[in-house]
Amino acid sequence: MEASLPCNSCGSVNQSKFSGEIGIHFPGLKNIDKPVVWVFPELVVCLDCGTAQFAVPEAELRLLAKGDDAAAG
Ligand SMILES: [Zn+2]
Repeated sequence: MEASLPCNSCGSVNQSKFSGEIGIHFPGLKNIDKPVVWVFPELVVCLDCGTAQFAVPEAELRLLAKGDDAAAG
């Protein structure tokens, strides 16, 4: 997976990879007690428009999916 694809937003190939730490919160007051899901992905940032892309690892992805179910039910 290389960062050679053009940016989804502006089409620029002026992108760089970074290491990120991202705490994903479930939105809304009803989710205020839910724990933050931390992910440490490799970020691809477009240096022209600022769009950042990253993939959530599978384990954390499951937490997010589960959290959504709980919020809906
Ligand atoms: Zn861009």
